[in-house]
Amino acid sequence: CIPGRTNHCSNLSLATQEVQTKSTSSSNIPFSLETLTLDGYFSFENTHHAAKDFGSTSHFHPSAILHPKSVSDIFSTIKHIFNMGSTSALTVAARGHGHSIQGQSQAHQGVVIYMQSLKEPCMKIHTGELPFVDVSGGELWINILHETLKYGLSPMSWTDYLYLSVGGTLSNAGISGQAFHHGPQINNVYQLEVVTGKGEVVTCSEKQNADLFHGVLGGLGQFGIITRARISLGPAQKMVKWIRVLYSEFSIFSRDQEHLISMENSFDYIEGFVIINRTGLLNNWRSSFNPKDPLQASQFNSDGKILYCLEMAIYFNPDENNIMNQKTESLLSELSYIPSTLFLSEVSYMDFLNRVHLSEIKLRAKGLWEVPHPWLNLLIPKSKISNFAQEVFGNILKNNSNGPILIYPVNKSKWNNKTSFVTPDEDIFYLVAFLSSAMPSSTGKDGLEHIMTQNQKILNFCAAADLGIKQYLPHYHTQEEWQDHFGLHWELFVQRKSTYDPLAILAPGQRIFQKAI
Ligand code: FAD
Repeated sequence: CIPGRTNHCSNLSLATQEVQTKSTSSSNIPFSLETLTLDGYFSFENTHHAAKDFGSTSHFHPSAILHPKSVSDIFSTIKHIFNMGSTSALTVAARGHGHSIQGQSQAHQGVVIYMQSLKEPCMKIHTGELPFVDVSGGELWINILHETLKYGLSPMSWTDYLYLSVGGTLSNAGISGQAFHHGPQINNVYQLEVVTGKGEVVTCSEKQNADLFHGVLGGLGQFGIITRARISLGPAQKMVKWIRVLYSEFSIFSRDQEHLISMENSFDYIEGFVIINRTGLLNNWRSSFNPKDPLQASQFNSDGKILYCLEMAIYFNPDENNIMNQKTESLLSELSYIPSTLFLSEVSYMDFLNRVHLSEIKLRAKGLWEVPHPWLNLLIPKSKISNFAQEVFGNILKNNSNGPILIYPVNKSKWNNKTSFVTPDEDIFYLVAFLSSAMPSSTGKDGLEHIMTQNQKILNFCAAADLGIKQYLPHYHTQEEWQDHFGLHWELFVQRKSTYDPLAILAPGQRIFQKAI
């Protein structure tokens, strides 16, 4: 807790050791949950799968899993635990799809709520001037896409991968190549239904219980469990022109990216990635992209170089083919990429948005999906990005990377600064995502330890050079680090915690607050 504010958060402490000892001695308490009358059910055995996530490095075993069928199951459980007060160490973690990296959706000896079991409300689409869809907090974005497309509608802001839950991404931000224009997913929500840490069910929006609404968006699950979300929709086009070009100079690459995101009428999607020392790169692209100039493309040699790929997309309907081609050519004419590296493709809107699933299928087939993922996601202010690139791509990661490295800028003006999410303090900042996979038994450069050391080197450099970065999907060990992360917003974050979850029952896996017992 922050000094001088103990009145607000006297129940919130960081006594990790004490909590773990006491929770062991009160291990009979979870079974009092059996007295609750539910539409769904608890399981107390075989709970090990709730101690695993996509990161595969954190394993906190819960005492029970709740498979809720109704919102009432969720609030009865939380109310029950809240009423036990500080006699119980039980905490509660909502688990969307468990795609966290460091145990954020786990609860050591607590209760994990499998949000995908919650099927209410049924997905309901409202057409009209301001179309929206009401969904359960456990719904996966892929299902929302399938359903809304039946009405020619679609959410506007996405993540790159769609097998993530609404509650999971709204607790973080939900960022992809549309965010420069539409803002992150947390900016594209009209209303939420939330069960707070006191077991109260609250409907909230910009106009109703706004403090809770803003707190929950990007709030890392700290203030309530999202049981329903009203997500804004827009017209969906049927097709996507998908384009990749390469740069060898970082400064030209980032200048073009920044130019594109500043335009009124730009591409619909803008991302980018770093390519370190990849042989035969363009040949690999040929399975899904066509080179504009096949002869020149075949002569391009990527070996041993660091290259930067700008990735863009335009959505269109088949009868607008000519207009789309003109717009594409006009936008591309403003860029300074290496001419021989222009690659184009046309795919359906669904295939474009669901593109990472194809990689998932291939990786699963090779047994490479369920390996440790020591990911590092950073938000870097525009004024520091070339300094960052020079040291990180030119030195720390000079010779190898263990997975994709995404890099693209977004406009801060498109982010609602009332939410819990904190961004760097500049009008434009970059998302840089090191999406590494570690080979389970390796002690070499593709092993977990080596990658984690590299991640730490990157973080150390950012701190030493005072780059003013923020972690995305943050992970810290001490409350001081969290305080530093939230900066001026920390006080409000603590205040909201003491208002909506005063016993610190919710989302213990984020390790921001500890339940005091
Ligand atoms: P979980 O891991 O289940 O939960 C995450 C956190 O939210 C936990 O603290 C949990 O307790 C809490 N939570 C879950 N459900 C609720 C709820 N209903 N109410 C309140 N709190 C809840 N992120 C991006 O922004 N952009 C991307 O492009 C992107 N791509 C990704 C690709 C892959 C392959 C993976 C694995 C992750 C990606 N992510 C991306 C990160 C992703 O958004 C987060 O990891 C997100 O938390 C995962 O959603 P989930 O449903 O699995 O959440």
